[in-house]
This record gives sequence, C-alpha cells and structure tokens, in this order.
Amino acid sequence: MRDKYLIVLFILIIVAAGAVLFYFEYLAVPEVTQIIEVPEEIIITEEVVVEEEVAVVPEPEPDEELKVQPIQNGNLSLFFIDVGQGDSILIADNYEYALEDCGDKNHGETVVNFLKQRNITELKYLFTSHPDADHIGGCAYVLDNIKVETVVDNGVFSNTQAYEDYYSRIDDEGYTIARKYDEYYIGNSTIKVVYSETLKVEQNDNGIVLMVSRGSVEAVLTGDCTKDCENTIGANVDAEILKVGHHGSKSSTGDPFLNRIEPEFAVISVGENNPYGHPAQEVLERLMKRGIETFRTDLNGNVQIKTDGKSVWVLYDKPATAEQIFTGRD
Ligand SMILES: [Zn+2]
Repeated sequence: MRDKYLIVLFILIIVAAGAVLFYFEYLAVPEVTQIIEVPEEIIITEEVVVEEEVAVVPEPEPDEELKVQPIQNGNLSLFFIDVGQGDSILIADNYEYALEDCGDKNHGETVVNFLKQRNITELKYLFTSHPDADHIGGCAYVLDNIKVETVVDNGVFSNTQAYEDYYSRIDDEGYTIARKYDEYYIGNSTIKVVYSETLKVEQNDNGIVLMVSRGSVEAVLTGDCTKDCENTIGANVDAEILKVGHHGSKSSTGDPFLNRIEPEFAVISVGENNPYGHPAQEVLERLMKRGIETFRTDLNGNVQIKTDGKSVWVLYDKPATAEQIFTGRD
C-alpha cells in the first residue's frame, strides 16, 4: 500500500514538474513578448509626436522675420533705415555696401547696429548728401565702428560741431569729392552723381543727389534738395524709386520734378515727433494723386526696396494704412 502511495506521489511530482516546465516554456514566454511589444509601441508613438513638435518650433514669427530683412545679394537692396528725423540709406549689391548719410548724432549707433545685424563690417563708400546734423551727425560713430574704404561728399565745409566730428575721422587717402556725372560701383549696380553744387545760397542745395541703377530700375536719392535743386537735375533723369527730398517738406518734391521723374515708389525718411511739420500734406497729395506707392519710416519703420533690375519688391517693419500714409504732420 505504501509503495502505491509513493508511486502516486512520484507521478504527482513529475506532473507538477512538467506543469512548471510547461508554464515557463509556453505560458511565460508570451508574457515576456507582450512586455517587449508594449514599450516598442509607446516609443514609436512618442517619436511621431516629437517629430511633429520639432517641425513646428523652428518656424519664425512673421514679425521676427521682418526685423532683420535679408540682404539677398543677387539683388540690389536699398534700406531706408529708421533714424527718426534724418536720413540714412544702405545700398547693398553682391556683398558690396555703400551708405548715404548716418542720421543725427543720437542715431549713429542705430545705423551701426543695423549694419552689424546683417554682418556688414565694411563699407566701400560712405556718401554724405550735405553737412546738416540730421545727415552727418551719426557719421563719426559710424566711422569709429565700421571700416570705410572711401568717404564721398561735395567738399563743402561747415563750422558746426557735427561737421567737425565727421571731418576729423576722415583721412586724405580715404576721401574723394563727388562731381556731377561721377560714377561709383557697388556689385552690379551703378551710383551716379546727378547733382553736385557748392555755391548755392540755400544750404540744403549745396549737396549731392545720387541715382542708383541696376538693369532698368533706377532710384533717385535727393538728400534735402529743394525745388530749385530739383529743377536743375538733368531732364534725362527718370526713376522708379524716389527718396522724397527734405523729409517731405513742402519746399521739395515739386510737380515739375515728379512729372519728369515719374516714380512708382516713394520713401519719406521722417521722424515721428519732428517739430517741422514733415511730411507736408501738400507733398503727400502730390504723391497720392499720381498713384505713387508711398512708404514712411515714421510709420513703416525700416523700409527695404529690392530689385533684380526688372521687378521691385518692398518690405517694411510695420504696415500702415493709405489714410495714415497720406496724412501729413503739418
Ligand atoms: Zn535733413
């Protein structure tokens, strides 16, 4: 009897051992497989989510994109830098750069920062339109911080502190006097002197007017040129782009000049809180009635006009309505 019990016990032990082996061989394995499969599925799901997030993050905000407008060196770009009440225009083409005017003393740093943000450390030319403080006041700071190959003006002296500061930074080797019909070259663009006077009674007319051209697109940069000066600019000068004279003062931008130049785009470089009433309503009306697309640095901030020699594009920091643009401050 006892042997029978031992045999049954032995069989039970074998069956139990077989059951344990069967469990680990066939039942435990699928559990392990399941554990592996589940994390794999989770990882794949997370990767998809991460990829979607990465794709969204690098897209820049539109405003940030406009703050530093790209140069695009295959084109000619004219940047009308917002220097408040004053002028400063960067001319860029094929990695060569020229600047006309530097704003007033408080805006020299604005101009230098504008250049450095675009990795510009050297200017081929610095043109100064005339010796008024709102045009040359910032030039001492520009000349102290940016390498300038050649400074170009019409040779008229002034006894102001702004002129003294500007002139003291210039050496003879890096200086030339601009005469009418002189030409300078920036990349694939030509900068031609279309006006240079020194003996006028009106100081704003003792300056230079430049015409920048690339292909069939031309821009006239008038400084603070008055109607008298405008009337002596050659009859063969016409341009798609006009830097409006003297910050939109009514003493400039006369009807005969506009009829001759026939611009399609106009830029007024003018300060928000200027005491002169610039730009004048009557000048804005002359531009409006001709359908000239007009931009203002006091409303649009920095304005960039870009051309490949055929087409023209305009970029700016801030939009403004036609009503705002064509409402004067006088
Ligand atoms: Zn001025």
